[in-house]
Amino acid sequence: MPDIEDLLLPHIHELKTYQGVSPSETLAEQAGISLDKVIRLNGNENPYGPSPHVAEALGNFRDYNHYPDPAQRNLRAALSEYLGVPDENIVAGNGSDEIIDLLMRMFLAPGDEIIIPVPTFGMYSFSADVAGARAISVRRNDDFDIDIEAITGAITPRTKAIFFPSPNNPTGNLVSEAQSRALLETGLLVVADEAYYEFCGQTLMRLLPEYRNLVVLRTFSKWAGLAGLRIGAGAMDPDLAATMMGMKPPYNVNLAAEIALLASLADTGKLLSRVESIVAERSRLYELLDGIPGIEPWPSQANFILCKMPDGRGLDVYEGMCRRGVFLRYFDNDLLRDYIRVSVGKPEETDAVISGFRAVLGVDD
Ligand SMILES: *Cc1c(COP(=O)(O)O)cnc(C)c1O
Repeated sequence: MPDIEDLLLPHIHELKTYQGVSPSETLAEQAGISLDKVIRLNGNENPYGPSPHVAEALGNFRDYNHYPDPAQRNLRAALSEYLGVPDENIVAGNGSDEIIDLLMRMFLAPGDEIIIPVPTFGMYSFSADVAGARAISVRRNDDFDIDIEAITGAITPRTKAIFFPSPNNPTGNLVSEAQSRALLETGLLVVADEAYYEFCGQTLMRLLPEYRNLVVLRTFSKWAGLAGLRIGAGAMDPDLAATMMGMKPPYNVNLAAEIALLASLADTGKLLSRVESIVAERSRLYELLDGIPGIEPWPSQANFILCKMPDGRGLDVYEGMCRRGVFLRYFDNDLLRDYIRVSVGKPEETDAVISGFRAVLGVDD
């Protein structure tokens, strides 16, 4: 009799797990503090929560015993209005992460390749690994700007797609329209992940009619505060969207997420004014970080700021902040040594970050 593990696909057996953010209870326990002392600035979440209409709409809905619409009629109509593209170009997903996974499964056979300019969001290489494909990392330059020549030079007969966020996570900088067009001209699938669009206002959405190989991703996790309900979308060529609609799990977006999305899109005024507060807070946080000797913050178009810590100090600063109840994202690899990413929170959270860094680094106030 074979051992059950021998039946597993080797690439799944050896898969490197994606490190997501831990629940607040776990963070509190780790730091030995009470739950209400936890400051979560490690997942680029929205500190203001969802629109107040969301809880009301979820509570008033009566038909949770029904399956959601596999054709996503209401969802696609609402998304169409918000995104400014026809319904037939849109697919809604269980987070934009699901759209990334669906694209990998639509385009990649085992052994195929995607190109990712790094450092970048971890989901692309993770989902490529799950598909048995390979993510080829191409280094960004010293300013974290993408390197078009290096990317086109990395294309092989097995390359199917290029994935990049704009603004990039975790560096916060944009890919320009000219750079995007250069990538689109390769004819490969080009996935522009605009998870942070609302914090910068730059989009490739209007290039969709021009390029059948362009997919634009959006999410409601960050600007609309719906990370826990899992709702995102892809905008793409209608034929591609029809193919994706035909191969996705039929009920991929649950009814609670659909109701939350519709309630949020009926309250964009409030949600976008919160985005404005976060953008204003981003400037204040940047200035304060820049004023701390030893810390080098990178300008950001998103709702987080990447900071270079003094050489060799990344881990102890990160751990010192955890002990103070301030949870940030720590990077320590060949591309990002001694870096910490800080999500933009409420003003009082900014103050806790700044006094924490100053205390941990031993900088006098
Ligand atoms: C946060 C983030 C997402 C969001 O994923 P969801 O699955 O929609 O929550 C997608 N792409 C990037 C680059 C991100 O940083």
